[in-house]
Amino acid sequence: MIYPWQTDDWQRLQQLRSHWPHALLLHGQAGIGKLHFAQHLAKGLLCESPQANGEPCGSCAACHWFAQGNHPDYRIVVPEALAGEVGQAAEEEARAEKAEGEEGKKSRAPSKEIRIEQVRALLDFAGVGSHRGGLRVVVLYPAEALNVAAANALLKTLEEPPAGVVFLVVSARIDRLLPTIISRCRQWPMGTPAPEAATAWLAQQGVDEAPALLAEAGGAPLAALALAHDENRTLRDWTLAQLAAGPACDAFACGETLQKLPVPLVLGWLQRWAYDLLAERTAGRPRYFPQAASALARCAAKLDAAALARYMKTVTRQRAVENHPLNARLVFEELFLGYRELFA
Ligand SMILES: [Zn+2]
Repeated sequence: MIYPWQTDDWQRLQQLRSHWPHALLLHGQAGIGKLHFAQHLAKGLLCESPQANGEPCGSCAACHWFAQGNHPDYRIVVPEALAGEVGQAAEEEARAEKAEGEEGKKSRAPSKEIRIEQVRALLDFAGVGSHRGGLRVVVLYPAEALNVAAANALLKTLEEPPAGVVFLVVSARIDRLLPTIISRCRQWPMGTPAPEAATAWLAQQGVDEAPALLAEAGGAPLAALALAHDENRTLRDWTLAQLAAGPACDAFACGETLQKLPVPLVLGWLQRWAYDLLAERTAGRPRYFPQAASALARCAAKLDAAALARYMKTVTRQRAVENHPLNARLVFEELFLGYRELFA
């Protein structure tokens, strides 16, 4: 099943069914369920007795194989680092790893990129005929993870699409895609759900404080759900309390306490807090941490707007290199010291 806020997209897409585009680019904010939607769409396209609204029947051989993750006419391509999140890819990655040899396997962390070997394997798949006489479907997620070589290889296929192959390209950052790839796809923007629908769904999942978490997740329900189950939530709240202390923020305690956390996670908190300070000053209303509105207002009143803008640039610069090995403690100390100086 798709998420309740996706039914409109589903129905509108079914109107394309008679002349389905060979490549569909599903794009929108992270955490709204685009991958899940694409997978369900793939299942519907492969189903051998779909319902009138395009829903997969759930009981034919194709639906059965799909659910098992071994439909012969389906491929999902994700970075190795995400392989655990999608059953079928894990198996393929294991094969690719084996081909690369044990040596390579030991020496490197799971790739966050979609590599050219993966796209080449896809082209082999696209080059042979359908096993079941129907469409063949490829889900590619997230497209912004394609490295340059892989993107160029994919582009060649999109320029001369093999008959009967449908690409479902999923992206949260189309600004990072090659314009030539975008132009070869039918674009399908997926909106962030209305807060009421998202909050209702979160409540069904047993999430307390759904509105606050939804705000922090920028309105994306799956991201809010992940926050609710975030094992680092206590540290997150501790960090927000440090930030709320403004000039009394203990930068060295932050470095010490947060050093074991992933750098991107902490930078994300800082970035959203800084954004909210700015929002508080300009619009009088925070976006991500409405529950901390009074602390934000107190801090925002004391700092210099130009210095804050410079500080936000510093955090953004750090985000650009966040995946490189850094001394997390030093990075955090420096950033929290910088934060404290905003109030000097
Ligand atoms: Zn079926």
